[in-house]
This record gives sequence, C-alpha cells and structure tokens, in this order.
Amino acid sequence: MGQQPDNADWDPADVRYSTLRWFAGYPDPGFAEGPSRVNPLTGEIYDADIRFDAGMTRFFRREINEYVNPAGTPWMPWMEEPRKPFLAPWHNRPAEFCDLVGGAVRDAEFAFDLLTARGMDPQGPEANQFVHDYLVEIAAHEVGHTLGLRHNFRASTIHTLEQAQDATLTAKEGLTGSVMDYIPTNISTEGQKQGPYHQTTLGPYDYWAIEYAYKPIAANTPDEELPELAKIASRAAEPQLAYDTDEERGGGPFDMDPG
Ligand SMILES: [Zn+2]
Repeated sequence: MGQQPDNADWDPADVRYSTLRWFAGYPDPGFAEGPSRVNPLTGEIYDADIRFDAGMTRFFRREINEYVNPAGTPWMPWMEEPRKPFLAPWHNRPAEFCDLVGGAVRDAEFAFDLLTARGMDPQGPEANQFVHDYLVEIAAHEVGHTLGLRHNFRASTIHTLEQAQDATLTAKEGLTGSVMDYIPTNISTEGQKQGPYHQTTLGPYDYWAIEYAYKPIAANTPDEELPELAKIASRAAEPQLAYDTDEERGGGPFDMDPG
C-alpha cells in the first residue's frame, strides 16, 4: 500500500485497486463511506474503496456548511438526497444506512472545543493526535463495512465508564467491543483519569466476526466448513462479543433491545 503518485497509470475507480480515497467537492463535511463490489454468484467481495470528504479534518475548526453551503440542510437517512449512502449488499432499507460520520463530526467537534476550553492548543500536537485518532476510528468502521460487517450498537456496553478511562485495559480490549458501533468521543470529567479519546484498535467482536468470515478453513466444499464455523459461532454468548444491529437499535417495528 502507498500513496498514489501524480503520474500513476491506474485509476482508483478500477475494480482491481482497493483504495482509501480523499476527495474535495461535496459540500457536506460529515461524509465518509465504505462501499464494496460483490460477486453476485459467490458473495465474494472483490473490490472496496473507502471515500472521505477532505472537509472532515477541518470541521473541528469551523463548521464549513455555515459559509460554503448556506442553503444546505442536515442530511437525514429518510430524506431524498443526491448521493447514495453506504449500503451493504444485503441492505435495502433506510434504517440500515451508515450515517456514522454525520454525527461523529459534530460529536468530535464538541469534544475538540471542550478540550480547547480546558487548555489544549488547537494547532498543537495533542490536537493533531486527536484528529488522527478520530480518522483511524472512522476508517476502521468504514473498512469494516467493506469487509461485510454490519453495525454493532451493543459493543459500547462491554466496558463500564470507569474501564473506558483505563488506557491499559483499552489498549488490550479496545475502547469498546467493536469499531462498528457509533462511538462517541471518550472524555472524562475535568481533572479525572482520562483514557483514549477514540477507538484506535479493533475490539473483541471485530476479531471474532472477521475470524468467522475470513479464517482459511481446509475444506473441499462449503458444507465441510460448517463444523469449524459452528465452533467459532458458539462463542456468541460471551459478554465481550455483545452484538445488536440496525434492526434492534430503535425506531422501527423490530426494536427488541430495551437497552
Ligand atoms: Zn456504519
């Protein structure tokens, strides 16, 4: 992997290349997505490109909509809109769109302002680290989608608020159970112990889900893979692998999770 040179003879839209792609042009700074192309016969994901709007990293300094998109309205999943949000191949309902970044930029902006009010230099190394770690978290989430993962809105329950401020623990287990949650910036009250602001490592759920989907299994037929897959799946009840997804999160007729 490397930076695409100016004189490259390949195009990021070419299905043979998977890229993380920055672009400028869309007026909404809260925009990132992780679409993929899938072989309809086998389900195999053969190409994926993460797309970020470059405005994402400037949002902390100023909400760009205020002066370049005065006529714009906040994007909501149920609105008609010109671009197509991320949809996993099996998704076809608005409740299953990924609108992580739309909220994440505002959450992180609040956190950035709060830390600045507490004395952080907004142009200094701590601020740069903040933006970097935020990008890592968003990129990991969108890469998760390109690999076929769905949202996991229960992952943030595996640690208590106290554990979330324990950097030794979070380095080992992740800030939450999964980068596929919508994870708010982790900020403790002033003067208290502070863990990582963002999730920059995968969580136990992520490793488990990827193991199920991608672990090479010596088998001649799909059926021969079943015993090993069942063994991996049998861990589902472990507390650290807590999971629920879009249908359970609320707002629809299938809300089965009172939490
Ligand atoms: Zn998502």
